[in-house]
Amino acid sequence: MSPIAEENKGQKKPYPVIDKDKCKGCGTCASVCPVEVFVLEKGKSFAKKPDECIGCHACASQCPVEAIKIIE
Ligand code: SF4
Ligand code: SF4
Repeated sequence: MSPIAEENKGQKKPYPVIDKDKCKGCGTCASVCPVEVFVLEKGKSFAKKPDECIGCHACASQCPVEAIKIIE
């Protein structure tokens, strides 16, 4: 199991995982998410409400640096 999967053990799927090293804080994910999962904190995106995710992949497909992965 990957470290990311371990970290989120018990989290309801689907949910997004953000690679903070890649994230440029552009806010696109927060803008396109239909259920407002993301907030920007200190110039990085943070999945504040992962339980709300419906797995639409809008965030992952529109992130300009491919920083988001959806765990399903
Ligand atoms: S779309 Fe990508 S780069 Fe932009 S804030 Fe979201 S995770 Fe970061
Ligand atoms: S997959 Fe869709 S619902 Fe889930 S966080 Fe991304 S944009 Fe929001």
